[in-house]
Amino acid sequence: MHSTLEVKNISKGYHNHMVISDIAFTLHKGEIGCFLGPSGSGKTTLLRTIAGFEEVLSGEIWVGGSRVASRGFSVPPEKRHIGMLFQDYALFPHMTVFENVGFGVRSMKDLQKKTYIMDQLSTVGLEGVARKYPHELSGGQQQRAALARALAPRPRLLLLDEPFSNLDVALRERLSMDVREIIKEQRATALMVTHNQQEAFAMADRIGVISDGSLQQWDDAHAIYHRPANGSVAAFVGEGALLPGTVIDSRRVECGLGILEGSFSSPCPIGCSVDILIRPEDVIHEDDSPFKAMIIHKTFRGPNILYTLSLRNGDSVLALVPSHHQHRIGQEIGIRPQVEDIVLYARGEVCLTEMPDPNERHKFQVHC
Ligand code: ADP
Ligand code: MG
Repeated sequence: MHSTLEVKNISKGYHNHMVISDIAFTLHKGEIGCFLGPSGSGKTTLLRTIAGFEEVLSGEIWVGGSRVASRGFSVPPEKRHIGMLFQDYALFPHMTVFENVGFGVRSMKDLQKKTYIMDQLSTVGLEGVARKYPHELSGGQQQRAALARALAPRPRLLLLDEPFSNLDVALRERLSMDVREIIKEQRATALMVTHNQQEAFAMADRIGVISDGSLQQWDDAHAIYHRPANGSVAAFVGEGALLPGTVIDSRRVECGLGILEGSFSSPCPIGCSVDILIRPEDVIHEDDSPFKAMIIHKTFRGPNILYTLSLRNGDSVLALVPSHHQHRIGQEIGIRPQVEDIVLYARGEVCLTEMPDPNERHKFQVHC
């Protein structure tokens, strides 16, 4: 029943202003994908286009092996068999939870339908409130009811637009885990969009990072965090610093943390100016390390403290340190970088490869 979604280089804009450009990805049957991007990056537009509320300017959308959209062609939303879940629940206020969930369920006899709806309600943990009205439920319960309603007609694809952003933080985390479980249990294929990376990490098999309407990377959570495709993904996902540095050879790079050695995320010519991604967990605090950095900012995070440290050359990095190590702002502490996989980005300047004869340097100029 649930299908593969193929989005082939779609673009969509309003009044000559491009909102999403050339977006391409495939979501396999049973997978949960999530687009992560700041407000205004085009996430809702993408979902509305997939659902059929907007037409594409170019590219194609395929659901379950059928083309549903291309330039000048659009299967209407109700014929796409796509379910949607929004942040504002959108339950019908004059219907009970039972009636809401049953709304889109057709082609079933009364008794069979009743059993089916009660089953759906028990999947989302709401069998006890079937006769209640939406206003009698908490926000979390309403969102569960909305999920049951979206899934009940067995859509080919479920789209979720910031489904947890109206809920408080604790509930959000809990519900995102539950929703993932429910979607997996029903073997549904789902695409969610959010600006919240914790939600994306909690929910998704695959994450797409979107900025200004362009898909920057489509990958699993581990790769998005540890191997961000470019500086903009690195800056948006997780915390960290991009330290300026210079490539010494194929495994070493020099920066404000000294010389780092490891395998590079992408090959870069010797002498190349790069930005190196340093995550807070890459900077280890060691009291007796000879390498010192000054604390310029600190944030208490319960088990850890996040320190912003100023290095001798003026650059700064973040360090996540267990909170029983309490230090003051202005204090110098010993640190040791621990970076085995070095994620670096060429700074787009002309740089020089290793060369035998200084007179021939110009021949070896390459763009990194
Ligand atoms: P997000 O969901 O990531 O916050 P949206 O898709 O809602 O982003 O919006 C992306 C951009 O498209 C914004 O600049 C927004 O102003 C513009 N936009 C969205 N819908 C319309 C519309 N119907 N008409 C004109 N501009 C729109
Ligand atoms: Mg939106």
